[in-house]
Amino acid sequence: MAGLTLKHIKKIYDNQVVAVEDFCMDIADKEFIVLVGPSGCGKSTVLRMIAGLEEITEGELYIDGQYMNDVEPKDRDISMVFQNYALFPHMTVYDNIAFGLKRRKVPKNEIDKKVREAAEILQISELLQRKPKALSGGQRQRVAIGRAIVRQPKVYLMDEPLSNLDAKLRNQMRSELKKLHKQMNTTFIYVTHDQTEAMTLGDRIVVMKKGHIQQIGTPHEVFDHPRNLFVASFIGTPQMNFIDVMLVLENGMPTARIGAWHIPLELPMDIRLTEGEERPAVLGIRPEYVEIDEPDGIPAPVTMQELMGSTVQLHLALGGAELIAMVPVAFADTLPDQEEFDEPVSVRVTLPGNHIQLFDPESKLNYEVIYGEEPDTLPNVIDDE
Ligand code: ADP
Repeated sequence: MAGLTLKHIKKIYDNQVVAVEDFCMDIADKEFIVLVGPSGCGKSTVLRMIAGLEEITEGELYIDGQYMNDVEPKDRDISMVFQNYALFPHMTVYDNIAFGLKRRKVPKNEIDKKVREAAEILQISELLQRKPKALSGGQRQRVAIGRAIVRQPKVYLMDEPLSNLDAKLRNQMRSELKKLHKQMNTTFIYVTHDQTEAMTLGDRIVVMKKGHIQQIGTPHEVFDHPRNLFVASFIGTPQMNFIDVMLVLENGMPTARIGAWHIPLELPMDIRLTEGEERPAVLGIRPEYVEIDEPDGIPAPVTMQELMGSTVQLHLALGGAELIAMVPVAFADTLPDQEEFDEPVSVRVTLPGNHIQLFDPESKLNYEVIYGEEPDTLPNVIDDE
């Protein structure tokens, strides 16, 4: 059990690639932290620096209050599970799990107790005498995790541990990891490029891009209050809708103009719009928050329907922009069959003010960051590539 502090951590590889820049974070004891972001954004590098497998170029790392930069990996009291876990093929599951403890010369009866406890937690007790080749992918992954948990370290580090599994197993292992975290009562730091994994596992999520932290927050915070356009588009499936609008004051009320449509916005902050000013902005709204067929909604032709299972994604044309709305299948079934009409079928769209996000097109920052009361301490990195 331990908290961690990362202070202005930077990593420059030998080839001069700056993989991580100014990574600052306090991680509480027993927290489940997920580092998420597109491939190459520096997630694994952060994890490997915590593990001691990569040198920290600049900055300070503390585990449990102790300065760790120069401490050998084996002396950091951490356990790491990788995506490409290698089990010893000639050893049984039992011996694979026991391997690290034997090497540390832990007494035999203690090893036996720990291996059986881990097997119990991971529900692989009946597999202890099998060899890895007689196991399914999910069972092998559990053995790899078993090897990590017998150690009972201060911190668990996991680097995409589920990405080799098929979708069904991944879902199953995901919920098991969540339970495991509760049972182990220890700090977990988990790397993934999969935002669903991040949202479901993390107490807090760190969204990264090109070596920089973009936002640190609870799943709820990053979903409903994304700090910038990158986080807004990275988190959530289907993606948030983005519409270029012009903000104006109408009857003293901030209003978004989309083509001929005027949408009054109930904003929680003063955006300092002046009478007569026309200010371009990007309006964001998640497909699940778009309301359909309210009497005073804006008419929008349906250009396409995509069945996603229990929901349907309606693609709508809204004043020259495209908008996706997520509606229940039962609603989509009430729409007339498109082919039978010359004119496209239309629905009425409402964009509820309390779910609208506004972004500044230049800085890409959320208006909540620019005009809100909370101080924003992260540097703003504008990078569109
Ligand atoms: P992620 O885990 O987010 O996919 P990584 O931390 O693996 O990203 O990599 C971050 C950046 O550092 C990438 O540009 C990658 O190519 C580079 N990188 C990773 N490892 C090395 C290395 N050993 N030497 C040089 N560059 C590396």
